[in-house]
Amino acid sequence: MNIVQSVEEMQQIMQDLRGKGKSIGFVPTMGFLHEGHLQLLRNCKAENEISVLSIFVNPLQFGPNEDFDSYPRDIERDEALARNAGVDILFYPSKDEMYKNNMSTRITVVDRVDVLCGEKRKGHFDGVATVLIKLFNIVTPHKAYFGMKDAQQVAVVDGLIKDFNIPVELVPVETIREEDGLAKSSRNVYLSNLERKEAPHLYQSLMCGKQAIEDGERSVGIIKQAVSKHILEHTSGKIDYVEVLSYPELEQINEIQEKVIIALAVKFTKARLIDNITLVVPNN
Ligand code: AMP
Repeated sequence: MNIVQSVEEMQQIMQDLRGKGKSIGFVPTMGFLHEGHLQLLRNCKAENEISVLSIFVNPLQFGPNEDFDSYPRDIERDEALARNAGVDILFYPSKDEMYKNNMSTRITVVDRVDVLCGEKRKGHFDGVATVLIKLFNIVTPHKAYFGMKDAQQVAVVDGLIKDFNIPVELVPVETIREEDGLAKSSRNVYLSNLERKEAPHLYQSLMCGKQAIEDGERSVGIIKQAVSKHILEHTSGKIDYVEVLSYPELEQINEIQEKVIIALAVKFTKARLIDNITLVVPNN
């Protein structure tokens, strides 16, 4: 595995690989790798000759009161996991290397960001879009892999790729969960023992919403209430949002329609967790 920290060197390597006609897959992450990241890497490896993993905790996507400084980092462990997963190139730039020119230009995401995490974390997706434009230009992948755990991010990246005619194929990957249903996340390490026991109820609350829809409930208000009730009854977390929106448009709806997302964000003492499910609802 080649570990590269310099943007210039990375661009040289990628240019050479492209010149040789290699197919390139890319998995952008913030590190502290877990089974969710490894699944993206497995899909990437299966579909491309060269697999590139980036690890970069991007300051632009964290708000002033968010966890940029305390975000979990362990590059030695990540290196070993990446090597094991068969990563060909690990791109691991420093903050100064990525933003050495202080950035005279930023991307502003205007669509699908007035809901969910976009509404609660102002500027978050601008930071995501800005770093991704840089990473796509540096890595020049044919395919890029993103987890559905961050469904709104998938929708935003889809828009970014289309808006800027970036020649990369977006490949969404299903959410990987612990056996008890908790979505794998780097932030799970910040749950206390008790919170860790409560956290699977987030997924179970989504299942309550799904069950209500399958039982014929069509009122978004009632479904949101059922999900929230389950969270409040079974966890000590504070609800940041519980939403049922059209998918992939992420528009507010009053009645369930064919494709919907049930999404939630819940704040525990040291970790804010998100989760979602998307559903295709048969017309009755
Ligand atoms: P992060 O390092 O949290 O920025 O995540 C990097 C990529 O891994 C993003 O595309 C995430 O959506 C994806 N990812 C994170 N957790 C999971 C998970 N549990 N299942 C699938 N993909 C995930």
